[in-house]
Amino acid sequence: MDGKKLEFKGEEALKELERLTINAREVQETILNDILSRNRETEYLRKHLKGVTDISEFKSRVPVVTYKHVLPYIERISNGEDSSIISGHPIIELLRSSGTTGGEPRLMPSIAEDLDRRTYVYNLLMPIMSKHLSGLDKGKVMHLLFIKAETVLPSGIPARSVLTSYYKSDHFRCRGADPYNDLTSPTEVILCPDSHQSMYCQLLSGLIHRHSVLRLGAVFASALLRSITFLERNWHEFTNDIRTGRLNPTITDHACRAVMSHMLLSPNPTLADEIESICNNASWRGIVVRLWPKVKCIEAVLTGTMAQYIPMLEFYSGGGIPLVCTMYASSESYFGVNLNPLCHPNDVSYTLLPNMAYFEFIELENGLRCGNGEEVQKEKVVGLVDVKVGRYYEIVITTFSGLYRYRVGDVLQVTGFYNNAPQFKFIGRRNVILSIDSDKTNEEDLHKSITTVKEILEKQNYFLIEYTSYADSSSVPGHYVLFWEIKLISEKLEPGNVQCLVHPELIESCCIAIEESLDYVYRRCRTHDRSVGPLEIRLVEGGTFEALMDLLISQGSSINQYKTPRCIEQGPALGLLNSKVKGCFYSPKDPAWSA
Ligand code: AMP
Repeated sequence: MDGKKLEFKGEEALKELERLTINAREVQETILNDILSRNRETEYLRKHLKGVTDISEFKSRVPVVTYKHVLPYIERISNGEDSSIISGHPIIELLRSSGTTGGEPRLMPSIAEDLDRRTYVYNLLMPIMSKHLSGLDKGKVMHLLFIKAETVLPSGIPARSVLTSYYKSDHFRCRGADPYNDLTSPTEVILCPDSHQSMYCQLLSGLIHRHSVLRLGAVFASALLRSITFLERNWHEFTNDIRTGRLNPTITDHACRAVMSHMLLSPNPTLADEIESICNNASWRGIVVRLWPKVKCIEAVLTGTMAQYIPMLEFYSGGGIPLVCTMYASSESYFGVNLNPLCHPNDVSYTLLPNMAYFEFIELENGLRCGNGEEVQKEKVVGLVDVKVGRYYEIVITTFSGLYRYRVGDVLQVTGFYNNAPQFKFIGRRNVILSIDSDKTNEEDLHKSITTVKEILEKQNYFLIEYTSYADSSSVPGHYVLFWEIKLISEKLEPGNVQCLVHPELIESCCIAIEESLDYVYRRCRTHDRSVGPLEIRLVEGGTFEALMDLLISQGSSINQYKTPRCIEQGPALGLLNSKVKGCFYSPKDPAWSA
């Protein structure tokens, strides 16, 4: 596709959206025909199609694959073989995904024109938002955006995260003035590879511009909350910088110092006093609207596993402004946008954009509970416009950059159609994450059971800040372990203080409530077969999950794309969590089960 065709802005972008969604079937066919003709000479397609470019042959001969099958090609490209083994265009970079499956970092091929596709999606967001909120061009946007250091592969091409690639590209750096996207963060600060210094400077810039911020956010809710808690701990430093007009000496990055020192230029004790009196408040409930009084919405992904952050963000925002989830995207491809941005995060559906890639869907019987196998029955794979409302599917993509019928691993549920393009609720990742015996508990099951007990905790004034899980088979029988970090809702406590205040009965009642909400097989294993032991909750000290994030970032994750792993295995992450445990609580009785 010619990049120029994707340069739509404002009203034009909305018109293009109408055209694409009305003609979804034709657009998809054109995309696939284009991919097949442009990539017909690749080793991959020659092997399966032997020069044929027919769509029905593609569907019958090209297998539906997982990353395991793609990996040998990726390794060859990393080691310097020509892009033409999988793509008709030069692969300019390999994009490091956040590795949401079992923590494995995956590398995805990317070609130059992919940047145009991403830009097209970004250009759509503000026209959609402006249909629902007015005046968004009358102020600034405090988006906390981060890059991650990249590595150069033996072939000479970079391996980096998709957002690092985007923020470093001319598409972002040379984007020109846009009244809807006047960022508080200077580009130099966003491009600082030290995420601590970058976060500091971005928060400081946001505070300096506090009276003109209209939108505030980050890509994923986890990074936004991480930034708010950073502010909670370090606000004295920020007020000090503003009061004195001198940047904190811990900021050593040259470019950051230059641009921030210019922004601080003269001391501003009035602004420092304002911020100090707000931050000094005993409760941080509603802090966002107090610090940024003109803010109209908070933007971050809050769907899927990010849904657990909704209460925390509602707490910090005070509940009076919308939490907006704008888009659904990945390193493999960008997928879609939310056309109803002011709806509650629980009700978000993403409309898939038919011009991003060629999409297929594997029908699943029952959400995440199915589809864990590698085998895919042909008749279960349907095209974009053939999905049915209410059903669950795993998304499969074919791209210009060299992924063919690749299973992304995300499970989606169809909620409706916009024109002829389906709209999907994001359900979760496909894989089973916990299993001791014949029980199989996946991300969605775990999330649902955790949601049930959150209410129990919240009634007692506690927030569940973060959780992860571990299938502990070191004892016999093995059992599920949940690591929880919780916090009292109404007070500001120093990290580490909260756990000693918790009544053991409260956490034990959570253990049993979780077991009660897990599926039949789990409860049978627990009560009848005795092949699974009582569920355990290990409360960890405050700040543990931030330490986990730091550890995983040091191992290659990017702060922008970071998602807390919902299950961990043996290794440094488990060691870290165990070293922070303040109390262990077990299910005091068997969950209900009947034969
Ligand atoms: P990455 O490749 O690191 O960018 O991660 C992409 C993955 O993040 C997707 O495959 C999804 O699992 C998840 N993701 C991206 N956008 C959303 C969204 N809007 N809601 C829920 N999960 C998302």
